[in-house]
Amino acid sequence: MITDEGKIFLAAAKTFIDEHVHGAAFDKAQQLPRSLLKLLASHGYLGINISREQGGLGMNALEYGLFTELLGRACSSTRTLLTVHCSLVTETLSRWGTEQQKRHWFALLVSGETIASFAVSEPAHGSDTRGIATRYRKSGADYVISGTKKWISFGAIADVFLVFAKCDEQMSAFLIDRSAPGVRVEPINNLLSQRASHLAEITFDEVVVPNTRLLGAEGSGQLLLMSALDNGRYSVAWGACGVAREALVQMIGYAQQRTQFGSPLAEFQLVQGLIGDAASEVHAAHALCERAASQRMARSCHAGYETTIAKYVASKAAVSVTARALQVHGANGLSDDFCVERLFRDAKALEIIEGSSQMQQITISNYALTAEK
Ligand SMILES: Cc1cc2nc3c(=O)[nH]c(=O)nc-3n(C[C@H](O)[C@H](O)[C@H](O)COP(=O)(O)OP(=O)(O)OC[C@H]3O[C@@H](n4cnc5c(N)ncnc54)[C@H](O)[C@@H]3O)c2cc1C
Repeated sequence: MITDEGKIFLAAAKTFIDEHVHGAAFDKAQQLPRSLLKLLASHGYLGINISREQGGLGMNALEYGLFTELLGRACSSTRTLLTVHCSLVTETLSRWGTEQQKRHWFALLVSGETIASFAVSEPAHGSDTRGIATRYRKSGADYVISGTKKWISFGAIADVFLVFAKCDEQMSAFLIDRSAPGVRVEPINNLLSQRASHLAEITFDEVVVPNTRLLGAEGSGQLLLMSALDNGRYSVAWGACGVAREALVQMIGYAQQRTQFGSPLAEFQLVQGLIGDAASEVHAAHALCERAASQRMARSCHAGYETTIAKYVASKAAVSVTARALQVHGANGLSDDFCVERLFRDAKALEIIEGSSQMQQITISNYALTAEK
């Protein structure tokens, strides 16, 4: 349920996004302006899903989702910042951090003084997160970490990385400063999608990490990773709804104003078929995201399952709706004079990040085999 306060918040957020979040320009520049990060922080958006007592805006899961959808409509890279900084790192800290860690990090993360990124993927380990090769060992009261992480969104500009590493078979999570000796950051540019997401490859070469930077108990990394990815998936699902909805709006606008054979495209039944399918997919994805939101707010034991389904369906919808929108735009759809080509490019990444569609299918199926009886 959206509170009255939530409605006011979302209306103000829409105005903020229209004014400050320029997806096409950021995509071309392959970066988000620093001024935008400061503005997001000063409006409290970097602490949107953190409770008021902990210094955040305290929005509920539905309000956070609807905000993420709005951001996803405007710019997938800005949405990615929220996914990584708020859902993957801050929320994980909120659940697994000690009181001392929360006090220390929330002040920095909510104010935007510190930008966080989330580092699990590696050059040779993507879907297979259990197989990661980054290693840690104990050295007195500290830990020493070595390994390479790849495709880390906002890694090129983040001040701190939430890093997953293994010692023998046990996985643990650490908050590592970019400035720590032995950390090397190589930006990754010119990807098809999410070009303003400041991706990076990050190498940790015998990096000494104090034990105050261990998040959760030693050996709890796998559990912590699953809970972080569940939050990330929820955010990506709503972001995918935003991409699909914007593509639908663009498609309708174009079909109504473009004339061929003496009639607007919208009057041709084959074009109506494309629009009808797209609208249905947008509504189905949105409804699944709302369902995931209500399950999360009710703290239902099925919330993770519903979130995975929402992410799986919404990311597929984003790909298929943007492809239809591009088709309706004809040659103009391939041109960056129109935003559907960017939406189409950005949509593709949504089927890969926070677990690929195939991994979601496996997760959904495993759960369904026991729960759907
Ligand atoms: C834009 C972008 C941003 C990203 N940001 C981050 C980030 O911030 N932090 C981070 O840690 N990572 C990030 N990643 C990495 C992302 O999490 C991985 O790309 C993803 O987990 C898939 O891993 P992979 O690319 O290595 O593909 P692989 O795991 O090599 O998979 C390749 C293909 O094989 C399929 N496949 C793999 N295993 C199976 C199986 N068992 N059954 C069926 N099919 C299978 C996959 O579905 C996929 O289609 C990002 C990636 C992108 C593209």
